[in-house]
Parts: sequence; structure tokens; C-alpha cells
Amino acid sequence: MPLANQIAIVTGASRGIGRAIALKLASQSATVVAVARSQERLANLAQEASQAKISGTIVPRVLDLSQRVDVDAFVEQVAEEFNRIDILVNNAGITRDGLLLNMEDEDFEIVLTTNLRSVFWLTRSVSRYMVRGRYGRIVNIGSVSGIMGNPGQSNYAATKAALMGFSKTVAKELARRNVTCNVVAPGFIATDMTAVLPDKYKESLKPLIPCQKFGEPDDIAGAVAFLASPAAGYITGQTLAVDGGLSM
Ligand code: NAP
Repeated sequence: MPLANQIAIVTGASRGIGRAIALKLASQSATVVAVARSQERLANLAQEASQAKISGTIVPRVLDLSQRVDVDAFVEQVAEEFNRIDILVNNAGITRDGLLLNMEDEDFEIVLTTNLRSVFWLTRSVSRYMVRGRYGRIVNIGSVSGIMGNPGQSNYAATKAALMGFSKTVAKELARRNVTCNVVAPGFIATDMTAVLPDKYKESLKPLIPCQKFGEPDDIAGAVAFLASPAAGYITGQTLAVDGGLSM
């Protein structure tokens, strides 16, 4: 079990991609602190994990990352409870789509805070423990929108592109301490986030994807689990597109 005795924090773990990541890491024996706003969904996740008799554990923690919450206190609590933090997966993210000419300040701001500022707060805080422990794996969830741009997503694409520059810099700063930082950039994945898109639009996208279909949350979870594992120690500062070939 590659993640035995490891402690992971996964944000946005109550649904979709984050949920799949949390279950994948727990299935490889990690103790996963699962973060989101919905206590009920997190409790269901923890219950599902314990009923599935997987070797790891899910520990639910409610935190709203759209606001300047006390991330340091949260991270300190995790470190005190478990003595270490080995893996951080910054996955929580939202969209507030709209064309640039109509985009409201609030729609830009809330996407910026949830998708980018919270990543800065958590990464800064968790890095202190990783540097001290001389080990760490940080995986940030980007998007093909950050690589290619996407009409209606100037706010979202800006945050996802920023994650790549942020991650390369963190990677350069922390490499000597055996802490890696990479980005996984999903294409279109079947979750609540894409369920709201009109069917006609979704069908029009499929011919643009070389694999001709949307991905599943597990497709992303597999890539994240690899980059979060000890086996990926010589990979840092990279963006891995998991998008059925869309961004090639
Ligand atoms: P999703 O189904 O909408 O789930 C989003 C997750 O983030 C939920 O667990 C949600 O939990 C959590 N979250 C949202 N706002 C939060 C907040 N303020 N504080 C804490 N947690 C919050 O989205 P998804 O499709 O799984 O996306 C996951 C990540 O992949 C995102 O970063 C997204 O940008 C990225 N991505 C997705 C796709 C795709 O096609 N689905 C493509 C490219 C990139 P609560 O509601 O319980 O808080």
C-alpha cells in the first residue's frame, strides 16, 4: 500500500473529482482529511469509506474556502492530531461563468478566492510542516481552461492558469526539501460542475475530444494518486493534462 501511514488533505472532497481522489488515496491506505462545506456529504463519504472496508480512513472537516477563514488554525489542528502532513490536494473549485463584457466583480472575486487564494493559504500553511518533515506531495487541480482559455470563463481560466505559475514556483522553492508540487489539468469530466451545461453544448464538445467522450472522476483520481505517491518524487513543477487529448 503506497500511502500507508501517510496523512493527506483533500479539498472539495464532498462531491465529484475530490470525492474520487479522497477515496482513491484512502484505498491506498492514506488517512484523508476531507474538506468541503457540506457536512452531510462529507459524513456520507466517511461512512462509505468505512463500509467499503478500505485500508485508509476519511476524516471529514467542514471549511468554507470562499472566505478568509483561518486556514492556519485548521492546518495546525490537522498537524497536531496526526503529527504530520504528507499530501495536499487543492481540488476545491467553482465556476461563475459569463462573458467578459457582462461579468460582475463578485463573480470574478468569489472564483479568485475559492480557486486561487485558498490554494495559496493552504499551500503556504501545509508547506511549513512538509519542509520540517523533509517530505511532501502537493497536487493542484487546474483545468484545460487554464491552458487553452474558454469563452465565458475569464475568471475561472485566470485562476487555473495562475495555478500553473504558482505551482512551478512552489516546486522550485521546495524541491531541495523533497517536496514536489504539480498540477493535474482535467478536461471535461462528468460531475455536478459539467452537469449544468446544456446537453446540446456537451454533444458539440465531444467531437473536439480525441477520446470522443467526457472523462470520469476516477480518471483524475488515478493521476493525482500517482503524483501524490512516493514513486513520483522526481516529477515536480509539471502540468499533467488528463483530458482525453483535448488540449493537444
Ligand atoms: P464539483 O462537482 O462542483 O465539486 C466541487 C467541490 O468543491 C465540492 O466538493 C464542493 O463541496 C467543493 N467546494 C466548492 N466551493 C467550496 C468552498 N467555498 N469551500 C470548500 N469546498 C468547496 O466540481 P468538480 O467537477 O468535481 O471539480 C473539482 C475540481 O476540478 C475543481 O477545481 C474544478 O475547477 C476542476 N475541474 C473540473 C472539471 C470538470 O469538467 N468537472 C474540468 C476541469 C477542472 P461543497 O459544495 O460541499 O462545499
